Amino acid sequence: MQFYFTQREFPARKRSSWKNKLLYLFPVVIFPLLLLYIIPSQPESKEPSAGSLNIDIGDFKKRPPSLTFIERTIRKNETLYGLLLSEGLPASEVVEVLEVMKGVYNPRRILPGSKIRLSRDGEGLKRIEYLYNGLDGVFVERAGGRWRAGRFEVPRKVVLATVEGSIESSLYEAGRKNGIPPKVLIELSDIFAWQIDFSTDIRKGDTFRILYEVIMADGREVGVGKVVAAELVNAGRAFVAIHYRGEYYDPEGRALRRVLLKSPLRYRRISSYFTKRRYHPILKKYLPHHGVDYAAPYGTPVESAGDGRVIFAGWKRGYGYYVAIKHNATYTTAYGHLSRIKRGIKRGKRVKQGEVIGYVGSTGLSTGPHLHYEVRVRGRVVNPLSIKAEPVKSLSGRELAEFREIKEELLATLYRKTTTVAMDAR
Ligand SMILES: [Zn+2]
Repeated sequence: MQFYFTQREFPARKRSSWKNKLLYLFPVVIFPLLLLYIIPSQPESKEPSAGSLNIDIGDFKKRPPSLTFIERTIRKNETLYGLLLSEGLPASEVVEVLEVMKGVYNPRRILPGSKIRLSRDGEGLKRIEYLYNGLDGVFVERAGGRWRAGRFEVPRKVVLATVEGSIESSLYEAGRKNGIPPKVLIELSDIFAWQIDFSTDIRKGDTFRILYEVIMADGREVGVGKVVAAELVNAGRAFVAIHYRGEYYDPEGRALRRVLLKSPLRYRRISSYFTKRRYHPILKKYLPHHGVDYAAPYGTPVESAGDGRVIFAGWKRGYGYYVAIKHNATYTTAYGHLSRIKRGIKRGKRVKQGEVIGYVGSTGLSTGPHLHYEVRVRGRVVNPLSIKAEPVKSLSGRELAEFREIKEELLATLYRKTTTVAMDAR
């Protein structure tokens, strides 16, 4: 009996509405600084450090050095066949080139307006290249009196970029209005998901600074890699993350990861859920009793706060559809008023941290859609917001020494405001 409470649910909707209005009133002011930074060339023997700075970009065939190199655009009413003829290639060879190319890419798909790169050596046309999207191409090359075809990719470069800014409404708005890749901000919210509830804790005036990988090809930004270091100042408290061997650590070498997420309503889920609806809410939370009530729209995905085993999944009186999960000998979490429990979530089922277990609703004794969330420590209900769980790991010995070196380098870059040079990753 003591396991479940029957307090009045969700009584204080107006409590923080003035705050909410303020948040919506202020426009986002943010100062992104795109500071590209050379990736220091890593000595081969220093693999771990390179591991934290380099993206694995796979094998890219380097274009052979060309003697003369021109770029031709296929004209209106022209074909690749015609272009190659007009470049002086004998008709029989043009046929061979197109035949060989067919094995890799259909030359008929190369339409007027396409750019063809041609290189010549002393004997004439040596290599023909066509980029069929900005990054991948087909080539046909003369080698030993024969033509052969293949694909190539534009060599990628990885550079580090810094963005910094302050939050006036939400992280989502900060990114949207300032052209910060959404993936980077979502990753920021994932990195600190054990420390900060991004759907409710973010305040006007919070600041962030992120050092992340940008993938470049042909002088263009073609993607973003991982965040390598970040700082978030939330309500005056600074949180710092440093990437090291696939994990994020605080400056003392303690993993940011914990047994329980800060919130079962994770920013990543909420933001993708609401992007579809073209509306981005700032969720609210209340502490009316032994648990947290999150005022969240109907259908918002609810995650398991940690790895564990489902010990209850079904209808639980005033709690409506309810799921309880045992994480270890210490922690149990519970989720109430769900509109529905995710299919497959049953008593005895193992779940991973961050796995969706159900959706926000208003079942049971509830006056509006919200999530009732409870955490128990050795069976006793505690305030979920006050939990100080241990890091999943802490670095020591040689790893810690190595981490410190990398940390110095990354933090120096994170807080630096100069330099804009790109380097070849490989
Ligand atoms: Zn509640």
